[in-house]
Amino acid sequence: MTLDQIKALIRTVPDFPAPGIQFRDITTLIADGRGLASAIDHLAERVPQGTSAIAGIEARGFIFGTALATKLGLGFVPVRKAGKLPVETIGLDYTLEYADARIEIDPSLVSEGERIVLVDDLIATGGTATAAAQLLRQAGAHCDTALFVIDLPELGGADRLRAEGVESHSLIEFA
Ligand code: IMP
Repeated sequence: MTLDQIKALIRTVPDFPAPGIQFRDITTLIADGRGLASAIDHLAERVPQGTSAIAGIEARGFIFGTALATKLGLGFVPVRKAGKLPVETIGLDYTLEYADARIEIDPSLVSEGERIVLVDDLIATGGTATAAAQLLRQAGAHCDTALFVIDLPELGGADRLRAEGVESHSLIEFA
């Protein structure tokens, strides 16, 4: 499936979660067997040699991240919202456009120096992905690549990630 065909499977929901926001909804893509498989194939092409694990951001990053990890025979590290992991964690507070948020990981899942690629469904301002990359690095990982199904380029997320030393690759853009 081409990237244009994948884009056509993504639903846009107006005024969610707040008036004026166009929510890009990947549930219609993942409900399509060929669409889901093809999105994972395209993401897999962008995973650098030497990658030892995939990290996915809760919750939609878990869907694409675990499928990608399975395809490549790699492990999966969940980047979770606060308070979900049952063990001692390291966490990072960060600011979203309208709210504060916190993500956490279990650092024992990360080996010193291993190369971890970050995955999420969408990058907007890049705040979430930047925090996730910083956290993975704090745990000892080498994290210089992030993959997204969707980029909203007007919000500058890719530039923000690049300023942190993380190159991002996205399958689709919505202007
Ligand atoms: P950022 O931190 O501003 O880059 O926002 C990205 C995070 O918000 C990701 O975890 C996305 O899943 C979520 N997000 C923001 N806008 C949308 C959207 O239109 N559709 C789906 N997820 C979104």
